[in-house]
Amino acid sequence: MPIKRHGRGKPGAGKASSTKLDQIVAKANQARDERMRGYREQSLKIHPWVCGRCGREFTRENLHELTVHHKDHNHDNNSPDGSNWENLCLYCHDNEHARHADLVRGQGFSLGETEAKDRTATHKPFADLKDILTVKKK
Ligand SMILES: [Zn+2]
Ligand SMILES: [Zn+2]
Repeated sequence: MPIKRHGRGKPGAGKASSTKLDQIVAKANQARDERMRGYREQSLKIHPWVCGRCGREFTRENLHELTVHHKDHNHDNNSPDGSNWENLCLYCHDNEHARHADLVRGQGFSLGETEAKDRTATHKPFADLKDILTVKKK
């Protein structure tokens, strides 16, 4: 963003624009918070106040320990029917994400295997070519 420097006679100009920016940022943060609260509240309305993993039950007193997990780990996938939400206690939610991280690492490993197979595949025609050349020489 280019910084425009007008004359020294307007000390308030820069201040006003930064306040405006603050307002925009604050508004964006507020909107995000509302969206976050929105899906949690919706999920708590749709699903029972029970952890989907350990079965721990929640009341209004400890409801803040019940979190909403996105089953496909996509926080933008907020189906109004709640099909992508799962109520999980803080501990099970942590575990779920650790498990997902393991899964992603596992997929990375199998991708590596595929690459190794591809390397073997590219080696083979080269070997055949060598055979053909050898045959031609005879
Ligand atoms: Zn739990
Ligand atoms: Zn989650």
